[in-house]
Parts: sequence; structure tokens; C-alpha cells
Amino acid sequence: MAKNIFRKELKDLKPYIPGKPVEKVMEEYGLTEVVKLASNENPLGPSKLAIEAIINEAPRVNIYPDPSVEIVKEKLMQKHGFPREQIVVGNGGEEIIKMIAMTFINEGDEAVMQDPTFSLYDITISHMGGVSKKIPLVDFETDLDAMIEAINEKTKLVYLCNPNNPIGNIVSKDKLDNFVDKIPEDVVLVLDEAYFEYASRNIEYPDGLEVLKRRPNTIVLRTFAKIAGLAGLRIGYAFSSEEIITEMAKTKGVFNVNRIAQVAAAAAMGDDEHIKNTVDLNYESIGYMVDYFESKGLRYVKTSANFIFADLGIDSKQTFVDLQKKGMIMRPGFIWGYETWARISSGSMEDTKKFMTALDEIIG
Ligand SMILES: *Cc1c(COP(=O)(O)O)cnc(C)c1O
Repeated sequence: MAKNIFRKELKDLKPYIPGKPVEKVMEEYGLTEVVKLASNENPLGPSKLAIEAIINEAPRVNIYPDPSVEIVKEKLMQKHGFPREQIVVGNGGEEIIKMIAMTFINEGDEAVMQDPTFSLYDITISHMGGVSKKIPLVDFETDLDAMIEAINEKTKLVYLCNPNNPIGNIVSKDKLDNFVDKIPEDVVLVLDEAYFEYASRNIEYPDGLEVLKRRPNTIVLRTFAKIAGLAGLRIGYAFSSEEIITEMAKTKGVFNVNRIAQVAAAAAMGDDEHIKNTVDLNYESIGYMVDYFESKGLRYVKTSANFIFADLGIDSKQTFVDLQKKGMIMRPGFIWGYETWARISSGSMEDTKKFMTALDEIIG
């Protein structure tokens, strides 16, 4: 028999399912206008300051970027009070998640996580030959007790996606503190706070950096993709102990964050108004959707992110197709095992209304 040329873990590795691109729906259905509320993107676009920085940097893309991304680290240090040795910047939060698996997972090592949650944790753990212990949500809430029970000698990592994608709800500060106290010190806690700025409007939402201050084996992940509207540039970051950051940095792409992304992210951090407007619009859009679901008596989960998980009461696979015919894209719940549910991102008010009108025509 011919030898298998591939890494054995790839055989069963299920690739990440991305949101459907606007261009593809336009082409497939012959549409000129498409509303995409599928990938939790920022409907305001990036900050004007970021756009300006991008344009100014364009003539210098013949030069390799700074591999340590100092201009962004400087801003993060000022804002959060952690030294550069405790920060790593990645090619999106996505690369940070890959780095985590590469840094900690030997074959057979275990990682505990919510189910469903952001699928890249499982994908990257599996890629390294690790085993994901997926703990089902109970009535959409994270089962923290079951996650603690799942920890054993082989456990290297515990992921907590907060708010949890695709559900949108949070683990409160009280519950998180209690949870943290029960995790053995030599297990690394990964707090994925990709939606931090949105969730911070909820007074019960904890700040993972406070956990890191008292528990060094903690990684706090955040990204410029959502709040800063820089999804297309790929830049995210993490805080942890100096020891962990040093090891993680060994696994990163050398010039992982391009020059354009670096200047755009640094500029975006100086635009508090854009951040505020983004969060304001988010809750206006979400509020509009909630009013609709309420009026129809449809179930939804209270969200602290820029998307909402709702039960449309009809098959999500079919609804996904029906909505596309009307130029609307969402994320159907069947991909997470919720057949009649959907994850809908917040949008501009115009797009939100168009989407809900189209949805209403289908729901009837
Ligand atoms: C979007 C997201 C990320 C990071 O995304 P990038 O675009 O790679 O920065 C990480 N975790 C969760 C839960 C997300 O939703």
C-alpha cells in the first residue's frame, strides 16, 4: 500500500465553514444588491482614521512589516497597562487560536470547551492530535460545572468563549470568578473575548484581563475584526503571562501582521467615537430584531455580542436558501445542530429592516 503522505490528523479534520460571501450570492442568484448579516462584520466599516492610515502606508508595502508589531503593542500597553512581554499580535484572532494549539497540545492532550462554540478551537486542537472535550450547553447557558468535571490529568486547555459564538450570551463575572477558582493552576484558561467592546455594555460582563492579573496561566484573546471593522485586514491579539507569550510567539508566522493592518489597527485604537458608534448601532439593530421576534412570539437568546441567535421556527437549511434568493445572508443554525435556529449579525438600520422584512415574507 502506498504510504500516506499527509499528517494523520488531517484525515478527519473538518474545515471551518465560513459565512457565504456577498459576491457568490450575487452571482448565484443574479442579484445586484445583497445584505450580509452572516459574519459579524462592522456595518459602519473601519474608522476614518484607519482608512487614512491605510492610504498613507500604501507606498511602503515593499518593506517587510515589523515582526513584533510594536505600534499596536504600544497602544495596547497604554490602554491596558500590561507590558509588551505579555502581548502577542496575530494574523487575526484566528492565528492566535492556532498558536495556542501549537504551543500546548501534544498528541492525546485534552481541551475542554463549550458546545457549540467557535469551531476553530476544536479544529486546531484536532490538527495537533489533541482531543476536544465538548460540553453541551444547558438551555443555551454554558455548563460550567460540567466543564470543571471534564478536567483531568490530560487537560491542557479550557476555552471559554465569552460571549459565546454562535449564541451571543455571556458568563457573568460572579460565575466566571467561581469557575476560575476551580480550574487547576496548571491548566491554561483561554478567554476568547472577540466581542469584548460590545459585551462591556452589559454590567455583568467580566473583563478577562482582571482574571489574568491574578491567574498567570490565562490567555485573553481579542480582535480588531469585529469592533474596529478590520476583518479584511486580519489582526487580533492576546494577553497572557510573559512565559506563555514567549512560547506562543515561537509558533507565529514571522511577518504575520502586514504593514497595512498594523497602522490601521493602531489608528483604530485612537478612535473612541467610532467604537462608541459601532456599539450604539449594534444595540439599535439588535433591538429592532428583538422587537420583531417578540411580536412573532419567536424564541431568541439575549445577546451581548453583535449577532443574535433566534429560533425562526422553520428549517434553517431551507430558510438559508430562501433568504439568499431575496439577497439576504445569515448563518443557518443547522451547522451547529439547531435545525430551526439562525445566527443573524447586526447591521445598518437600513439593512436590518430589509433583512427582517425578507425574513417576515418567508416566515409569514
Ligand atoms: C471572530 C472571532 C474571532 C477572531 O476572528 P478574527 O477575524 O480571526 O480576528 C475569535 N473568536 C471568536 C469567537 C470570534 O467570533
